[in-house]
Amino acid sequence: MSGEYRRYSVRAHVEVQLAYLHATPVQAPGVCRTCFGACELKYANCIPCRDIEYAAGVHRADLVVPITYRKGSEGQHSQNLRMYKQVPANKAAATNLTALFAHFCQNHITCVKAAADVEHFTHVCFVPSTKNRSQARHPLEEALASKVRSLRRISVGVNPDVQPDSRSFNSDWFVVQSIPDPQPQTDVLLIDDTWVTGSRAQSVAYQLKRSGARRVVIMVLARQIQPGYGPARPLVERISSVPYDMDICAFHGHGRVGASPEGDG
Ligand SMILES: [Zn+2]
Ligand SMILES: [Zn+2]
Repeated sequence: MSGEYRRYSVRAHVEVQLAYLHATPVQAPGVCRTCFGACELKYANCIPCRDIEYAAGVHRADLVVPITYRKGSEGQHSQNLRMYKQVPANKAAATNLTALFAHFCQNHITCVKAAADVEHFTHVCFVPSTKNRSQARHPLEEALASKVRSLRRISVGVNPDVQPDSRSFNSDWFVVQSIPDPQPQTDVLLIDDTWVTGSRAQSVAYQLKRSGARRVVIMVLARQIQPGYGPARPLVERISSVPYDMDICAFHGHGRVGASPEGDG
């Protein structure tokens, strides 16, 4: 299978999802500058991001990159994000999410790297499940592993003393034993499926930073918006009426297109 064919087929796999994907996350008034969720107009960041900034200080992610939005639990994209991790896994849902991630990396990883001041990512890390700790490998890692093969993987343990469904940042929620083959510049791509408050992903980022990571970029397949939250109304209106644009991203225009997550290959 040639690279061109693969690229075409990845694109085609995203195109079939355009019928239900919401607008691409972009900055606007009333949108949190950190996580692209809804925030009050008078603030730059949403309440959870402000709380995390206060609690984590400099040991938080350098950049948060939501590929798409989901509106509560509505719609096919939200369904995919639920079904890919069912047992047994829903293959169609997993294939759709993998294609979305692969297409995003092919077309926008340069934008992300430029925005985060990363030359190339050295390591990858998946936010572990806090509820299903018996899983050998998180279903998201199962789905995306082939796309981040050349990055060294950092494994993360879960502290069972922290409430599995906590919505608050917790500096000792996760344990990073060590970073394998640490580089003088360890730049980590930290991946999760959905961002609600960012508490879990940012708690992992905290430990990665404490363990010596220079840059941590959190990439999520979807930023979840709660339609019932008053300040979210303009954002909900926009993402409900504007279609997903696969040719732009939240950090578009920062770099050259066409590179892979691990470099210019
Ligand atoms: Zn935020
Ligand atoms: Zn872009």
